[in-house]
Amino acid sequence: MSYLGFQILYFLLKSLPYADAERVYAPWVDMEAALRRAGRPLCSLEGDRPLGEFDVLGVTLQYELGATNLLTILDLGGIPIRREGRGEADPLVLAGGPGAYVPAPLALFVDAFCVGEGEEQFPEALALLSGLKGRPREERLRALADIEGIWVPAFPRPVRRRFVRDVSSTFVPADRIVPNMGIVHDRVATQVFRGCFRGCRFCQAGMTERPVRERSAESVLSEAESALARTGYEEAGFLSLATCDWRGLPEALARFGERMRSGRTKVSLPSLRMDAFSVELAAGLQAVRKGGLTFAPEAGTRRLRDVINKNLSDEEIRSTLEGTFANGWDRVKLYFMMGLPTETEADLDGIVALCKEAARMGRSAGRRVSLAVSLAGFVPKPHTPFQWEGQAPRAVFRERARSVKSRLSDRRFEVSYHDPEQSFLEAVFARGGAELGPAIEEAWRRGARFDGWSETFDLRRWEEVFRDLNIDAEGLATRERGEQEPFPWDFIQVGVSRAFLWRERCRAMEGIPTQDCRSGCAGCGLGLICREGALDRDLPSSAEEDVSRG
Ligand code: SF4
Repeated sequence: MSYLGFQILYFLLKSLPYADAERVYAPWVDMEAALRRAGRPLCSLEGDRPLGEFDVLGVTLQYELGATNLLTILDLGGIPIRREGRGEADPLVLAGGPGAYVPAPLALFVDAFCVGEGEEQFPEALALLSGLKGRPREERLRALADIEGIWVPAFPRPVRRRFVRDVSSTFVPADRIVPNMGIVHDRVATQVFRGCFRGCRFCQAGMTERPVRERSAESVLSEAESALARTGYEEAGFLSLATCDWRGLPEALARFGERMRSGRTKVSLPSLRMDAFSVELAAGLQAVRKGGLTFAPEAGTRRLRDVINKNLSDEEIRSTLEGTFANGWDRVKLYFMMGLPTETEADLDGIVALCKEAARMGRSAGRRVSLAVSLAGFVPKPHTPFQWEGQAPRAVFRERARSVKSRLSDRRFEVSYHDPEQSFLEAVFARGGAELGPAIEEAWRRGARFDGWSETFDLRRWEEVFRDLNIDAEGLATRERGEQEPFPWDFIQVGVSRAFLWRERCRAMEGIPTQDCRSGCAGCGLGLICREGALDRDLPSSAEEDVSRG
């Protein structure tokens, strides 16, 4: 319910003359058991129709550990799990979202993957399918394979990511579905731009969602105001990968000012950067109530931040924290990653030192601060400069996390770390290929459910399956790949060139940062498309060279 992309596609489909949409979610384990006991199929929320009766089942693949949820939905909905087992009357199963950038592990179960943004390709696909209704399944799939951005495992061929060039003319929902219970991020979400200027080397979205395409403050506000009025929400969220970088932000906040001052509407901004501008913004937004502030330095030393291209100096971190405490916050959350390429003991010492210094600064500002420190394990993601890297073994993660935790053991700190076993499985699925399909099915048959939830996650079950099916999961996650080694996702062209990613990887190893797209083009391979797009400045010739090099 918190996912904006879902709401955009839902209302878009409902606006089409040849389509309609209803929702379904994977039920929690108790509801699954109840449905099975009662012999009832999983049905859509709006019309209470069994999933097997629909023409198309569309699924968003949010991240790697959702794989078994897909199988639960199919099976409970009365749809054969494997695509080969589906007959003429079964729905076509289409999948999109970030998981479609690495589709091979799910190719056994999905009829067609929609790679990239859905606003153009999804209606195209549905228009085509509505014209072919009643035609043989194979004919419909063949036709889908001809749509740019759609990859059909039955007729595999390289596919290029689809994306909307002009976000000012794309579909924007005036409405939102209002949940009937509290949800995460319970507010009107509005997207302010797509892509990211920054170029952090570990970040998949920062690479796959290029180029930056900004919306005007005018259009964002009119969407937010309409949705606020129609839903009764009193809070709006301006979403993007880095909202502080949105050039429309000052204007949007100024124009929203009266609503905010009168207390009618709150505004929330995700992903604050560690700079003075962000603290000023946050101070303006939370004039009355000071909740917590969250920052992501990602690494403990300037050296390692240069490796990952975070471009954040110790001085900037210090002055941001100073500003944070001076403005009245006493709860701060800091995110770090562990196991990043080239990490050493000194980088862990850096995390500890940075946290202790933050606590000291809070005290000298006269505040009793509490610092939440969150440690996540690095997962090498496809389509990033770190796709060649191996993940650190789980024992190393655990050891490093314990070491940091033991050194931040007093009451000022609350240290938590992401389960290294889940990060490991995430890396297996991020980097594996079609060989994982049977393993996903087998683990699901043996009871794997909601693997992204710690309550239900059990790595032992997966390890047994990998052993029984002779899959070298450790190797998939931890082995460093060679420069020319083929990847199972090579046939998905997201726009950035492999040459650029490798160049960035080499610069990372030398600790050389790369400028962000606003300061100058780094020649990622999108070149001409980027120039046609929303960035209103000239690209240096290196961008075009990169395009001609392919
Ligand atoms: S072409 Fe240049 S400016 Fe555009 S996204 Fe790539 S690196 Fe950034």
